[in-house]
Amino acid sequence: MSRFWSPVVHGLTPYVPGEQPKLNNLVKLNTNENPYGPSLRVLEALRAEAGDSLRLYPDPNSDRLKQAIGEYHGLDTANVFVGNGSDEVLAHTFQALLKHDLPILFPDISYSFYPVYCGLYGIDYTEIALTEQFAINVDDYMRPNGGIIFPNPNAPTGRAIPLADIERLLQANGESVVVIDEAYVDFGAESAAVLVKKYPQLLVVHTLSKSRSLAGLRVGYALGQPELIEALVRVKDSFNSYPLDRFAQAGAVAAMQDRAWFDNTCRKVMTSRDKLVADLSKLGFEVLPSAANFVFARHPQHDGAELTAKLRERSIIVRHFRKPARIAPFMRITVGTDVQCAALVDALKDILKPV
Ligand SMILES: *Cc1c(COP(=O)(O)O)cnc(C)c1O
Repeated sequence: MSRFWSPVVHGLTPYVPGEQPKLNNLVKLNTNENPYGPSLRVLEALRAEAGDSLRLYPDPNSDRLKQAIGEYHGLDTANVFVGNGSDEVLAHTFQALLKHDLPILFPDISYSFYPVYCGLYGIDYTEIALTEQFAINVDDYMRPNGGIIFPNPNAPTGRAIPLADIERLLQANGESVVVIDEAYVDFGAESAAVLVKKYPQLLVVHTLSKSRSLAGLRVGYALGQPELIEALVRVKDSFNSYPLDRFAQAGAVAAMQDRAWFDNTCRKVMTSRDKLVADLSKLGFEVLPSAANFVFARHPQHDGAELTAKLRERSIIVRHFRKPARIAPFMRITVGTDVQCAALVDALKDILKPV
């Protein structure tokens, strides 16, 4: 604790990201990265950007990227906001759109960055319990609120809700912003991007970190009507005029345009996920239905922390959350390549075999 700190800093509880180990030879299934490298067109675009132009500032508005994102979703550039990872887009969203008199609502089991942003910006929140089956029930969100945010599919459960439920929520909730964090939507859920033109209170947030294999480039975006986008731009331009560097902009344009790589890679991950779920079930695990690039699984006889530790001894890392207690039995396992998934399943077989 330093006497030099601004008072607010003493009260912050920062987000703890999943470990990025310095060791090689680990089977890394802990932070939901894509197991495949990005599109070769992205790499070409990055190489082309490595030149004299780096002495110049990048486009502060990322116009080419907004256009590529708009084209992908069938929306206008005025519907697009871009940021340095969707974490930054979310941070600006909390400050620009979710700070009102009433508390905002999000699930009790969800992306653990949400309460951190509330702490940073002084936003009140109420956590809404997931159902017994770890699902979001939108009826539980139909009450006065300062805003609503949840991931679809949810993290760390992997469970998705249908678009019809989101539309029902939008119809019941016209007075505050509804943010759908679609970090994992490309692995099997329905995107609410198609509702953006219809509902002025809807903001849909995407990242290129997972389905486009660019966690290292740091690009995310939000889709909404111009009134919402304008609020985000105001906050961004009061914070950092150039959040996306030249590499990020060039690489992200290429990533949005390479449909073939994207479709093929998402399909491969989903196929591996289905096999992983079947293999884990055979070992006695209960696996929540996943529409994401990870699965949330528990074994009736073994604790999540214990299994996570034993996997680690075998150089396989997965994520375990101690809180809330209801999810302590689970492990969150990123879908890797088939070879990585097989290594995980073999290690679990070994750990679970009767002694
Ligand atoms: C990974 C993730 C993000 C953040 O993605 P970045 O673009 O890498 O910052 C946002 N929301 C959820 C639910 C995530 O899992």
